[in-house]
Amino acid sequence: MSKTKNDKTKNDKTKKVNKSENVCTNHTEFSSETLLLHKGFDPALSVGSIASPIYPNSTYVFPSAKAGERAFELAFFPEKAKKGEVGSLIYSRVNHPNAEIVEDRLVHIEPEGGAAATFGSGMSAISTTILALLPRGKSVVYSNPIYGGTDFFLKENLTTLGCSSIEVETDNITKTKKVLQSCGDKLGMLFIETPGNPTLVMTDIDEVASFAKKINPNCLVMIDNTFMGIFQSPFKISPHVDIIVYSATKFMGGHAQMVAGATIVRKGKEHLIKDIKGWRTSLGTIASPFVCWELENSIKTYGIRMRGQSARAEIVAQFLSKHKKISSVRYPSLLKASDSSYNIFKKQCSGPGSVITFDLLEDNREKTFKFLDDVASDHIISLAVSLGGVETLIEHPASMTHSEVPESVRRKAKITEATVRLSVGLEDPNDLIKILDRALSKL
Ligand code: PLP
Repeated sequence: MSKTKNDKTKNDKTKKVNKSENVCTNHTEFSSETLLLHKGFDPALSVGSIASPIYPNSTYVFPSAKAGERAFELAFFPEKAKKGEVGSLIYSRVNHPNAEIVEDRLVHIEPEGGAAATFGSGMSAISTTILALLPRGKSVVYSNPIYGGTDFFLKENLTTLGCSSIEVETDNITKTKKVLQSCGDKLGMLFIETPGNPTLVMTDIDEVASFAKKINPNCLVMIDNTFMGIFQSPFKISPHVDIIVYSATKFMGGHAQMVAGATIVRKGKEHLIKDIKGWRTSLGTIASPFVCWELENSIKTYGIRMRGQSARAEIVAQFLSKHKKISSVRYPSLLKASDSSYNIFKKQCSGPGSVITFDLLEDNREKTFKFLDDVASDHIISLAVSLGGVETLIEHPASMTHSEVPESVRRKAKITEATVRLSVGLEDPNDLIKILDRALSKL
């Protein structure tokens, strides 16, 4: 056995790997893109490996009973730590090195980020964070349209626990303000997904968040930033945003290779992460070491992938917008000054992203299915739900992602039988256009 594989050396290294302050200490000096590659991991502490090792173990050995006692004490009361003292690892449902490394990086995904927690899915990030932070008896006001899983959790699951939830079209400011006002002191949380899935309708984050805080300064404001990622920075957009959540399954993971989630709290609100991680331990919703390791590696290319996908999507959206077999294309950079989302997009986003929603000419499920099957027949564009990955995906919201939404609600949101959602990946956009054009010409 080589010296570097000596157990004691390894244990020492394991502990040090957790000390993220060993690497890129002065993070005000470096940009987030640099920190996403290096923060939280020092190869010198792991036999020089440029990539972090995976720690798949369930439990951690205490060097003494006293050390075990202290590990538990600090896990429950981190404020009791002496200067320079870091908590020890205990058990992988509570914490593990791969989670710590990726969390050190996730903080830098959001300008003004203060602390982060990883989860086994976007839904477990959303549900655990809400369960941890929403006082029982209070109300959540949330944007409509929204991802179906979030809608189900807020409408069906949360309401069984003595909380109420009210959905509102947050692009309609007058209506939204009325709803927030009607909650009064009971307003515990505002949850906004913008752009909304799949219509891409946008909410003015600062206008709605500042009004919510006027109604109740203790109300927490949470934004699902999955769709826009690097092109929208909610903490910068509004000082009233407290928490950002992500389905890391989408752009962060980026290769359709994992399911994961993340919660990031604003600098100065780090205390919130303690409650979130406490609930995460009870619910067992931490992401596994392998998933954290995958996420750590994929977020190294997060920015460059998102920019590449967005540039390709702009080309595809332009093509679709001129096609005679298509009645409308919903894509941020195609918004007109007369669209309600136009000014919000200009003010709030630095790029359009890579999700395009478009409508075929005929509101007919059979015809849309034929189009989708034709598109998928080349095995380049895949007929699948999810989005944000390097492989282009196409889906039919009315029968797939939004099939549980009542038809009347769908129609109100302009999700018809002709509506198709396309998530553009990194293929050559001219190939994507060729495939889409061929299938459209058969309609
Ligand atoms: N938020 C948004 C905007 C989503 O689109 C999704 C899933 O599609 C989720 C959250 C849930 O994420 P996950 O599937 O990783 O649980």
